[in-house]
Amino acid sequence: MIDLRSDTVTLPTEEMRKAMFEAELGDDVYGEDPTVNRLQEMAAEMMGKDAALFVPSGTMGNQVAVLTHTEPGSEVILEADSHIYYYESAAASVFAGVQPRPLAGKRGVLSAELVEWAIRQDDIHLPPTSLICLENTHNRAGGTIVPLEDMQKVYAVACKHNLPIHLDGARIFNASVASGVPVKDFTACTTSVQFCFSKGLSAPVGSIIAGPRDFIEQARRWRKRLGGGMRQAGIIAAAGIVALETMIDRLADDHANARFLADALALMKELDFNPEDVDTNIVIVKPVNMSVRQLGNELEKRGIFTVVMEPDRVRLTTNKDVDRSDIEKTITVFREILG
Ligand SMILES: *Cc1c(COP(=O)(O)O)cnc(C)c1O
Repeated sequence: MIDLRSDTVTLPTEEMRKAMFEAELGDDVYGEDPTVNRLQEMAAEMMGKDAALFVPSGTMGNQVAVLTHTEPGSEVILEADSHIYYYESAAASVFAGVQPRPLAGKRGVLSAELVEWAIRQDDIHLPPTSLICLENTHNRAGGTIVPLEDMQKVYAVACKHNLPIHLDGARIFNASVASGVPVKDFTACTTSVQFCFSKGLSAPVGSIIAGPRDFIEQARRWRKRLGGGMRQAGIIAAAGIVALETMIDRLADDHANARFLADALALMKELDFNPEDVDTNIVIVKPVNMSVRQLGNELEKRGIFTVVMEPDRVRLTTNKDVDRSDIEKTITVFREILG
């Protein structure tokens, strides 16, 4: 089986398992788990923020950030295909009581002009804008990198209107490794950031949110309210430390495999996609002569697992647990099916 469904399917490394076994532990709800504390300090430093908080998932991290930044009845500006809007089961509406204001981006990039246009005036008929969310890399756009200059322009608009920015940086290390832009340059344009350990970094569980100290203190209370206060959480945080120490640079291998795959698939007339849209580890293709469901099934019959994105696209995500020969096999199978 060649699993290209996601980079979340990656299994922890031996070194992670050993670190988990040996982790020094305490009760993190009392703030006494030394391994969690060490991970949070490392993460805050790497993100260029005052403080950080370990949370069970990326979704909880994003939602804790939305809850902390906003008031019910306010409006959150975000990209129409963003994870927070598209894939979190309306959590921001359900928990934070906010109204999303989805705006269409290009390759996941929101223009600063559009963001400024969407910021509400002070008027009792209108919900006050409370937050702007960005996503980098952008998942549904195909793992695309939001260029630093675009983030800086949105940041200038946010500063002018005194609004916070939350970055869904589930794959911010992919953006940094592929572009050569330091993570801290991206996060300097945002008030808070969430990133995932459980994607390409291959740790089993967990995410970080990082931001100003008072933001993280309030976020800790929201995490507790949502049931995300974990006790001897150092056992999973230990894998996160190994992820930060050993798994960032190797994301370049995933990007090279995605590039190799994209260049080969781009030669197949039966697929409609632009290989230039592939920036990192995600390749999204559109079959011309068959349904996506049919393509997904034919691949699966031959041991290749992908995500069918209805109505017309199939997503392949390279990751630590597939190597170049798996990618070559995938290309051969595509040729066989599309014939
Ligand atoms: C995966 C992902 C998340 C959510 O992470 P989970 O740990 O699965 O809840 C958030 N944002 C983006 C862009 C993601 O790809």
